[in-house]
Amino acid sequence: MKKAKHKFETEAIRTQIERSQFLEHSNPIYMTSSFVFEDAEDMRASFAEEKDRNVYSRYSNPNGSEFIDKVCKMEGAEAGFAFASGMAAVFSTFAALLESGDHVLSARNIFGSTHSLFTQFFPKWQIGHTYFKIDDLEHIEALITPKTKMIYAESPTNPGVDIVDLERLGSVAKKNGLLLVIDNCFASPYLQQPIQFGADLVIHSGTKLMDGQGRVLAGITVGKADLIDTIYRFARITGPALSPFNAWVLSKSLETLAVRVDRHCENALGVAKFLESHSSVNWVKYPFLKSHPQYELAKKQMKAGGSVVAFEIKGGISAGRSFFDAIKLLSLSANLGDSRSIITHPASTTHSKLSEEERLATGITDGMVRISVGLEHVDDIIEDIAQALEVLD
Ligand SMILES: *Cc1c(COP(=O)(O)O)cnc(C)c1O
Repeated sequence: MKKAKHKFETEAIRTQIERSQFLEHSNPIYMTSSFVFEDAEDMRASFAEEKDRNVYSRYSNPNGSEFIDKVCKMEGAEAGFAFASGMAAVFSTFAALLESGDHVLSARNIFGSTHSLFTQFFPKWQIGHTYFKIDDLEHIEALITPKTKMIYAESPTNPGVDIVDLERLGSVAKKNGLLLVIDNCFASPYLQQPIQFGADLVIHSGTKLMDGQGRVLAGITVGKADLIDTIYRFARITGPALSPFNAWVLSKSLETLAVRVDRHCENALGVAKFLESHSSVNWVKYPFLKSHPQYELAKKQMKAGGSVVAFEIKGGISAGRSFFDAIKLLSLSANLGDSRSIITHPASTTHSKLSEEERLATGITDGMVRISVGLEHVDDIIEDIAQALEVLD
């Protein structure tokens, strides 16, 4: 068990692998594919897993271990495995734990590629899925079948920033003997720790708030040690491991996660309030706006509202195009959780693979805009959005 001794911010900075003989202050990067053995007996015992040591970087690497340790302490998890991307973490978690014939009960509002995994690849392994409505958890138990093995959800959701009641999912999972797996990427471990609410496993795309500067792809799954061991066995063979360099970047990034996310949330709330008062905007959604339908729930399970604001501009797709073309400072890009504010049109980008019907079922309208509010001065972010909205008047 990776028990945290200190407060969140301190663990994020002070969780470190052992210093090398050079007594460096900042950790070195262990760019090595393999590790050497002392002698024949050491080699045999290492491969027999009788020793807790690094053998080959597909299995483990000091930089990866440091990143995993930090995230485990932040999430209150027993163990973890770090992946080359968030989707590698999502896929490997499913692939390691599910058998042919199993069934997953998933929130409908999930990351686009996770949805594509369910619809395009699960069928060929005879893994079924049913989507539940996140605002109707009263009836979720009716969707459980004898084959159901796992409940899967994200909160806040992408791109609609809806909130899913994690405690309720935790109790449904426990009562029915199901695994609860939560993609906690939108919140980051700083804002929300799903294990507290009964999650067995927590997945992150480290590409987003964890790196926070748009440099690397990364993913991680943390949670119960026996489940992580199964995931580790799968990953050790199939090779989706995170590179030492990216792990090093991530470990450094986590040192500043708390201060960065505090500012992301402060700026995002400012942007949300501005949009709420604008006449060219139909609606705004941000978990910590009082007008958010699940404001109370968001307050209960999150420390602050996160970096993403969703809103709908009046005038649909053509107004949307004019608005995007008028943006000067913000980046038109598909990433999020970056220090640079990013503006996206989900219907034509991240969620374009969904049918129109599927999009509307998850609240993605043609006029919907998603802003990942960054760390620039909030006045400049708002000014850019304001001048682009003016073209619509
Ligand atoms: C980005 C994202 C992923 C996938 O992560 P990658 O690092 O891009 O593979 C998974 N889930 C959510 C919620 C995401 O935002």
